[in-house]
Amino acid sequence: MKKRASLAIGVDVGATGLKAAVVDASGKIVLHARCATGGDEGATEVLDRIALLVGMLSERTGAARVGVGSCGLVDPRSGIVVASTKTMRGWAGTRLRDEVAARTGFPVAVENDGDAAARGESTFGAGRGAPSMVMLTLGTGVGGAFVMDGRVLTGASNMAGKFGHVRVGTEGRPCACGAVDCLEAYASAWALRRAAGCEADEVFKRARRGDRAMRAHVDAMADALGEAFAVIAHTVNPSRIVIGGGIAASWSRMAVRAKRVFRARAMKVAYAATRIVVAELGADAGMIGASLIAPPLHQTRR
Ligand SMILES: [Zn+2]
Repeated sequence: MKKRASLAIGVDVGATGLKAAVVDASGKIVLHARCATGGDEGATEVLDRIALLVGMLSERTGAARVGVGSCGLVDPRSGIVVASTKTMRGWAGTRLRDEVAARTGFPVAVENDGDAAARGESTFGAGRGAPSMVMLTLGTGVGGAFVMDGRVLTGASNMAGKFGHVRVGTEGRPCACGAVDCLEAYASAWALRRAAGCEADEVFKRARRGDRAMRAHVDAMADALGEAFAVIAHTVNPSRIVIGGGIAASWSRMAVRAKRVFRARAMKVAYAATRIVVAELGADAGMIGASLIAPPLHQTRR
C-alpha cells in the first residue's frame, strides 16, 4: 500500500496491555489493534509484538511513521528506557526508538506513556485550547505531566510534572518510590488497595453506600488531591488540571472536598485561575498522544 504521510501510528506500551492505533491529523482513530505486552518474557518479545502490531496496521492503512509512549521512565532524546518496574523484565536499558525503527523500517520517536497521554488530552481532549495544562493520571500509580503551549516539559532528567511524588500528607504513608506521604501514597489504586484492603472500585462503591471507613479513605484521597492542586498552582500555575486514569470516573465523589482544600491552601489568584476537569480521551489518550510525536515521513532517524 502507498505510504500516507497524514496518518501516524501511536503505540501505548502498558505494563500489561500493548495497544496501537492509526490516528489521522484530526486525532481520530482510524484503526486499532491490541495484545498482551508480554513484559515478563523480556524486552525482545515486547519489541517483536510492537513491530507486529505496527506492521499489521501499516499494511492496512499506509501509515508509516510511529510514536511510542511507554511505561517506565523514557528519555525522548536518546530513545532509551531509563528505568522500569520489575514486571517489565529487562525493559530498563532498552533502546526503544532504535529497536522499533530497525524492526519496522519506519521513523520512530518515543516518550513516557504519561507524557503521551497528556499530549493527547492537551491537543484533542480536555486540555484543548488551554495554554498550560497539568495532567494527573490516577491509576495504579499517579502519573503527572506539564504541557505548555503544546509542549510537554520533561526537565533535566524527565521528572518535570511528576506530581505523584510531591509530599501532601502527614500520616507517614509509604510510597512505591521509597519516600513517605507522596500524592501517590494517597491517591492511587495501589494506595487505596493497601489502605482499605480492597480494589478502588469497591472502595468507592462501599463509600457511596455509607461505609464510614471507606468514606474516610475517599476523603483522604480528596484531601491529598486538594493539597497537590495547591502545590501545582504555585509551581506552574496551569490554566487547567486534567484528571485522568481509572479513578477519574469517581472524581465527582471527591471534587467538592478536594476543591475546598485547594481553595484553603492556595492564594486566591492561583486558585481562581485553575479549572479542574476530567480527561476526555479515556484509554485512547496515550495512543493518540504518541501518534503526535511520530516523525514526518522524510525524516528517518537511526
Ligand atoms: Zn513517591
